[in-house]
Amino acid sequence: MSFFTDAKCCIADCNNFTVTNSKSVCRLCEDVYCQEHNVQAYHDCVRFDLLNPTRKHAEQQQIDRQIRLRQYGLLLEKLERSRFAIINLAESLRPGHHCNLVLPPDSQTILDNERSYGAINIHFPLEFDDGVKWLIRVRQAHHGVPPIEVLKQTAISEVVTLQTLRSFGMPVPQAWIPIKTRVEEEAGDLFEDTSICYFFCEFMAGKSQLMPHLTLQTYRDVDDHDRRLIEDYGRNQILLSNHPIKSTLIGSLVPSDGHNDSVSIGPLLSLWGVNNIETPHFPGPFKSNQQRYLTQIDIVLSHISQGVMNDHDALKAYLWHLTLKELVETCPELAEEVTEVYVRHADAKGDILWGDDEGKLTAILDWEMAFVTTKAEAFSSPLFCDHTNAPYERQDLHTVREKVLIDFYERSNRPDLAHCVRKGKKYQYLESIGRFHGWYVMICMPMALMDAFEDTKPESLQPPFYADKDWTVYMVERYIDNPELQKLISKAGWDLEEERKKVISSRGWEEKDRKRSEWWSLSVEDRRRRKSEDVVAREKAMVENRLRIELKKQKKMEESATGEERPKSKTRRILLHSSSNRSTVE
Ligand SMILES: [Zn+2]
Ligand SMILES: [Zn+2]
Repeated sequence: MSFFTDAKCCIADCNNFTVTNSKSVCRLCEDVYCQEHNVQAYHDCVRFDLLNPTRKHAEQQQIDRQIRLRQYGLLLEKLERSRFAIINLAESLRPGHHCNLVLPPDSQTILDNERSYGAINIHFPLEFDDGVKWLIRVRQAHHGVPPIEVLKQTAISEVVTLQTLRSFGMPVPQAWIPIKTRVEEEAGDLFEDTSICYFFCEFMAGKSQLMPHLTLQTYRDVDDHDRRLIEDYGRNQILLSNHPIKSTLIGSLVPSDGHNDSVSIGPLLSLWGVNNIETPHFPGPFKSNQQRYLTQIDIVLSHISQGVMNDHDALKAYLWHLTLKELVETCPELAEEVTEVYVRHADAKGDILWGDDEGKLTAILDWEMAFVTTKAEAFSSPLFCDHTNAPYERQDLHTVREKVLIDFYERSNRPDLAHCVRKGKKYQYLESIGRFHGWYVMICMPMALMDAFEDTKPESLQPPFYADKDWTVYMVERYIDNPELQKLISKAGWDLEEERKKVISSRGWEEKDRKRSEWWSLSVEDRRRRKSEDVVAREKAMVENRLRIELKKQKKMEESATGEERPKSKTRRILLHSSSNRSTVE
């Protein structure tokens, strides 16, 4: 989670402002120091050297645990002080019933059970006298960021989203915003700490079904448990698709502005630092996805220029976002103005899927920062289906989980939704706005990005395959007229001529560049075919390789069982023979 805002240095007579996010607010004291005062003479925590990347893992974990313990302790104190106000507010929503707020005895209990309490949002039970159970869902500021008003804005939107989904019959918890009136009337008796942000939601029985991202070990298959969950998810998406919201705007839901509709559409919330530093922090709502994505990209480009985002990888991050900008500008689908919108989960990791002991889906959770958008985006693949840590070269355009979802929609006679998953790759890669990591090749992989926009990308955009030095040179050449890029380059002391020379004189460059031009000279269909042929050949080669290893092991075991050692040369001959049968691709 990342959020940018301006904060004044905490030194009394200093008027410097500094742009903060969860990393630049001190994790120990939650204070903000300007660059000048962020030294040990003024800020004692500096001696702990918290952001030192060379610190040993165990030691860092120990410090992190101490910090979390302290934060949970503070939160518990605040909740304890507000206990009666919270109970009073909950009871006012269920007249005639009494309830009890069940807080853990100490912060250690939360730390020991983080999985059940939650991390960013922490949950505590509220038990009513008739057996009804609610939770209070407390929004944690992460080291003091985002500010409480922003937290409240996101909490209200989440409640409206949950209420809306619930009215469609979706399996999500019912939710309520604490309404202040009664507490304010009796302000004399009830104290409520205004620095905590929370809302009430229904308790859902069951447990997280934990469907981790696909990995190098798991990307080939879907087991029965996951298949069933994906199909249950698909069933709910079909239900959601029957409930378009009549609107011409893309953004996050807010309470109705008093017209006929039950909800209105407000600014687009974001978890990834895609927010303005000044208020209003969140941009939108928008008339089209093109307007929305271009605005978001411009915010990020400005963060990078200002040095508040991607400060270690600024040039590549800037180029990545300029590429996204060009792809968005040239994509007709994104330019379409909307007439109806659908709710989209903002962070659909596998742990949002809640289920019973048999693994049947009973609820979909964590609708924080959800938004409404076009049908094409809303029904594109969820994160838990499309994300994979397996390398680009080993995978088809769609993951095994996406194929399960596509197949389910086809069988359910919903080819329109199957089409959204098939054609929805662009939305997956647009999620990298504000999240460029040079090392995170699964999200920021130029070739995968090109595949996602294959149908609409400009013909002249033919980048190298990987985001390495030649990619940087290619992209700088393409966008060299951009004045902000020029500033960034000169600030970094990066010289195009010099870098170009280095790339051209590097080993194997000619071969690499020949492959690149050859690849881009193929038609779209030929590229797709070549890609899937390569994937198949690669898999075949790996299977054969595994067989060879297995064979070798078996032979060794046989040899030791019979006690006689075969001459080494013979073993080698067998191996050489089988390796000559291997596929030529690798
Ligand atoms: Zn500090
Ligand atoms: Zn200062």
